[in-house]
Amino acid sequence: MSSKAKFQAIRGTRDLLPPETALWNRVEQTAHEVFRTFGFGEIRPPIFEPTELFARAVGGETDIVSKEMYTFAVTDLTRLIAWRDFVSSTRKIRDLDELDAYERSLSYLHREVQAAVKNGQVPDDGESQNSIVRMKRAMSIAGAALVEWRKMDGTAKFEELDEDVKDAGIAAASIRVGEEISLRPEATASVCRAYIEHNMQQLPQPVKLYYMGPMFRRERPQKGRYRQFYQIGAEVLEAVRPDAGRDAAKELAKDATVDAEVIEMLMTFFGRLQLEGTELSINSIGHAAENCRRGYVEKLRGELNRVKDKLGADSQRRIETNPLRVLDSKLEHEQGIIAKLPKIADHLCDDCQTHYAELKRQLELRGVKYVENWRLVRGLDYYMRTTFEITAKGLGSQNAVCGGGRYDGLVELLGGPPTKGIGFAIGEDRLILSLQEGGKGSVAEGRDVYVAWLGANAYATAIRAAKSLRSAGFSVELPPTEQKFGKALERASKLGARFALILGDNEISSGEWALKALGTGEQIKIAEADLPAYLKEHQ
Ligand code: ATP
Ligand code: MG
Repeated sequence: MSSKAKFQAIRGTRDLLPPETALWNRVEQTAHEVFRTFGFGEIRPPIFEPTELFARAVGGETDIVSKEMYTFAVTDLTRLIAWRDFVSSTRKIRDLDELDAYERSLSYLHREVQAAVKNGQVPDDGESQNSIVRMKRAMSIAGAALVEWRKMDGTAKFEELDEDVKDAGIAAASIRVGEEISLRPEATASVCRAYIEHNMQQLPQPVKLYYMGPMFRRERPQKGRYRQFYQIGAEVLEAVRPDAGRDAAKELAKDATVDAEVIEMLMTFFGRLQLEGTELSINSIGHAAENCRRGYVEKLRGELNRVKDKLGADSQRRIETNPLRVLDSKLEHEQGIIAKLPKIADHLCDDCQTHYAELKRQLELRGVKYVENWRLVRGLDYYMRTTFEITAKGLGSQNAVCGGGRYDGLVELLGGPPTKGIGFAIGEDRLILSLQEGGKGSVAEGRDVYVAWLGANAYATAIRAAKSLRSAGFSVELPPTEQKFGKALERASKLGARFALILGDNEISSGEWALKALGTGEQIKIAEADLPAYLKEHQ
């Protein structure tokens, strides 16, 4: 690469910079505060996990897993990979030392690959077995040559090995390192994995966790849609008690209450941020049983097949893979058709109906406003019963700032005990955009005090003043070189400082410091000891 090459952030990623990052911090701080008041604790899961975790949790058929994940081969087989690369890049051997090193690497590689196949890190298939056989052959040829040529030093014909070296190289290069990891496209799967891994079912239930951080999806970048974006989310997980079946109605009401409180927390958070024009949509998508969602989906599929010709290609495909997702369609010409499709509300089983009615009652008790949207199905496989989404203003077509729902059974699907779950994920990028569009995005950023000092004497005092003001919590700019007062005041206003503290020989000798309010231009004399209190009063 030429030395002039300019690097740029990769498409779909971006730098968050001051002053905007102050708004990000305010949003995150508010989340910490509000979620704490609802009894949630923070979890920080890793940013990458086994691909299989997301495939199983989110669903192999979803857009996220089938085409949007950033996936990598695992490199914990570093030694195997190093020997593989050495052997596969060796094309010629021209002396005994080279032959010695080569023969040894080949036998290490052979041994590592056999071990990796045995413990599942390299796939145990025909291709791997074939590589092992070919490496073994090259190994014995190289071994025999080594013994022979050691005896007759100086006369060995290393070219005779070229063909075998080449073949072993190709065999080595074809070794595929099995397990894969992916950058997380969402975090619910990780939270469930952690719940299982740390035996959280033994903690007092339910376990209430929240997280915030970057997620990664390879989507087409546009306003409000990035490849690295940020979510703030929360999950409530609760081990199913063995006697839960005894009073099913009570259990359903309890679940609905948990759902309502999670939504209440969310709306409290948005309220605290003064996010404008929020609209909460809710729905119930039932549960996977013949007399509930499964029956409905079959009916829906039947109806969709009847109007198949009038649907777009995506919807046509979804009739087979996931008919519910057709309801999600934003295509203009499909809207009339979708409006006439059967509605899930008319097909919910008694339990799901009870749960949904109670959810609405609980939201009303909490004064949370909602609209019902029977087409809200959400794109992830793990949802059941409650689904919800919140839209906000100023976001164009990417106007969903939050999505969530109930996912009983997900923990079990990932190998854990029977567990209920409900959660949401807020798109932080969109939340920030909406706050900015609504004029709620500004955060005071300027310095409190700019220390304008002149002379070596004053400098020592300036350092002391900066230190004590900073420890009192004020933001202080202390210029590293002395500046004429006029220049210093100019810089102070450019930085948006509220005050300039002026320290020259006079101020030092009299002990009366000068403080200039840059907004009004008013200047006062003040003693060192009185300064912090004065600044606090005039914030
Ligand atoms: P959308 O329908 O907008 O693609 P989604 O259903 O894929 O959203 P979820 O997986 O439920 O979204 O994620 C929750 C929230 O995360 C969304 O409501 C949105 O605010 C945000 N989000 C999702 N994908 C992106 C992205 N690529 N860039 C920015 N924010 C995103
Ligand atoms: Mg999406």
